Amino acid sequence: MNASQPPDSRWQRAQLLREMGFSPQWRLRQQPAVGRQPSAVLADAARAGLHQQAVEQARPVPGGGSADVPSAARTERAEQIARLGWDELAESVAACRACGLCEQRRQAVLGVGDRGADWLFIGEGPGAEEDARGEPFVGPAGKLLDAMLAAIDLRRGADVYIANAVKCRPPSNRTPEAVEMVACAPYLRRQIELIQPRLIVLLGRAAAHALLGDIGSLASLRGRPLEYREGAGGGVAIPVVVTYHPAYLLRTLPDKAKAWEDLCRARTLMRTAKGAATRPA
Ligand code: SF4
Repeated sequence: MNASQPPDSRWQRAQLLREMGFSPQWRLRQQPAVGRQPSAVLADAARAGLHQQAVEQARPVPGGGSADVPSAARTERAEQIARLGWDELAESVAACRACGLCEQRRQAVLGVGDRGADWLFIGEGPGAEEDARGEPFVGPAGKLLDAMLAAIDLRRGADVYIANAVKCRPPSNRTPEAVEMVACAPYLRRQIELIQPRLIVLLGRAAAHALLGDIGSLASLRGRPLEYREGAGGGVAIPVVVTYHPAYLLRTLPDKAKAWEDLCRARTLMRTAKGAATRPA
C-alpha cells in the first residue's frame, strides 16, 4: 500500500482487498529481484509442448469443425490471421468454425478493453454469461477480476485488455481441450501482436498452456521469470506472470493471498518495463 495515497484511496484499497478475501494480517513476502530476467520459456518448448501434443491429438470434430485439417492448411490459416486488422479479426472470430466449440456457442467472444493497453490479461474461455453477453469475465469471476485490477490501480478498459485462450464457450464450462486451444491460438497471437502489451498476466493453467505450452503445473509457473516472444523469429520478449483464474479463487479462498503476491509481482515488472522504456539509451 502506498503511504502517500490520500486516506480515501487507502480505505477503498482496504475495501477491495477485503472483497478479494485477503486477511488484514496478510503481508507480501520479500520478493526476489525482478525485471527482464533470462527467459525460462523457449519458443521451442511451447511448440514441442502443447502444440505438438495437440497435433497428435487432432481428431475429427463432430458437426463439421475443422481441427483435423492438414498442417499446410493450418499454417495457411494462421498466416492469414496474422495479417488481419482488428475489424477483420473480429469478423473472422465471429464466423470461425475451426474447432468443435463453434457448435454450441451463442457468439464468439473476442475480448474487451483498450487495444493499446500495456496490460493484457488472458483467461481460459467464455462461460455461460460471457457467451450470452459477448464479453469476457462477467459474472462473479469477472467481478473478482475487476477487484483484483482495482487493487493494483487498474480498471477494465483503461490500459487493460482482457481476452481468453479460446473465443467460444466450452460446453458445461469445461476446460478447453488442447486441440481447441491450438485451433484458436492464431487469434490470440494476433491479438498480442496488435496490442503489443508490456506485460501479459495468464489467469489459470489453461491460459498458461495455451500461450506457453505444457511446461508445468500452475504452481510451478507462479513466480517464475517467463516470457512470451511475439512474432515468428522470436521477436519482442514480453514478460509473463502466471496466476490463478478468478473462478478458481472464488472456490479456494486461501489462494487469494497467492494471487495478490502475483499481482504485486506483475506491478513491479510493469514498473520495471516502463522504466526501461523511458530510460535514455
Ligand atoms: S474457439 Fe476459436 S478456433 Fe474454435 S470455433 Fe471458436 S473462434 Fe474458432
